[in-house]
Amino acid sequence: MNNLFEQATILIVDDAKENISILAELLKPEYKIRAAINGEKTLEIAFSDNPPDLILLDVIMPGIDGYEVCRRLKADPLTKGIPIIFVTGKVNEDEEIFGFNLGAVDYIKKPYNSVIVKARVGMHVELKQYRDYLENMSYLDGLTGISNRRKFNEYLESTWNLSVRASIPVSLIMMDIDLFKQYNDNYGHQGGDTCLIQIAHALSKVIARKTDLLARYGGEEFVCVLPNTNEDSAFIIAEKLRLAVAALNIPHAFSTVEKYVTISVGIATRMPAKNNSSAELLNAADQALYTSKKSGRNMTSCSV
Ligand code: GH3
Ligand code: MG
Ligand code: MG
Repeated sequence: MNNLFEQATILIVDDAKENISILAELLKPEYKIRAAINGEKTLEIAFSDNPPDLILLDVIMPGIDGYEVCRRLKADPLTKGIPIIFVTGKVNEDEEIFGFNLGAVDYIKKPYNSVIVKARVGMHVELKQYRDYLENMSYLDGLTGISNRRKFNEYLESTWNLSVRASIPVSLIMMDIDLFKQYNDNYGHQGGDTCLIQIAHALSKVIARKTDLLARYGGEEFVCVLPNTNEDSAFIIAEKLRLAVAALNIPHAFSTVEKYVTISVGIATRMPAKNNSSAELLNAADQALYTSKKSGRNMTSCSV
């Protein structure tokens, strides 16, 4: 197993428990094992908060069969990345082609050959873990380690779409470090980078809710998406963010605002509807931030 990654979870699906036992025995030295004896349970596990890294899927089962499970998992963006290996007794070429067309990555024949099972599972788990790793990296800001703008854009869009359907408000917080050019000019670019890292860390400690997303929007600008949050709650969080940065007490002798580094904050809250958009929400938060800058900095303003 590669040390870079956590131990992978394999979901073994078969309506015959003895088949599950054989595969579980074979794979448990290397993987976390879960099991399901029907299609319904498989779908439930795959769509849970803790989905498996790979599914070994029996084809013939009463109720929802393996093909139908595969079809449903591949049709949903949440689960389509989970590799599926069909485990079946009757593999002729047409069956195999049918399974591959549904999106399976491989076939394993019963009765099992332990070397082949381990080799195929190992290869597909490794591919999946590298893919997940690269995808996660592509969403992170290289300097601060928090989410980047790409992640923010996608998250805002998906939050907005969910909120339209659920008729719930979305709040957005925009933050910008005050007089950061002065900071860089006087403490050097490396000093500026260290300051950005410290601030990202302090902000991320405030954002505790799993559904809230903090991201670096650009240079010295940060942004926070707060799903299902009204303006009053967003204001409380925004003030906590502003005060968390002030509490770092990073000396800024060249600031005209305070003797330490501060941020200005803008908030906007919208009930998603036909006549507005996430772009309009972003623009409104940006306008509110501009109001804070104009009114003396180191403060939070709400959009009108
Ligand atoms: P204001 O209070 O109006 O926001 O003033 P400001 O000086 O912060 O705003 P301005 O946009 O003029 O300057 C932003 C500065 O942020 C410019 C640049 O030197 C610095 N900056 C942007 N990205 C980075 C970065 O990744 N690292 C470092 N060290 N500095 C950065
Ligand atoms: Mg700026
Ligand atoms: Mg600034």
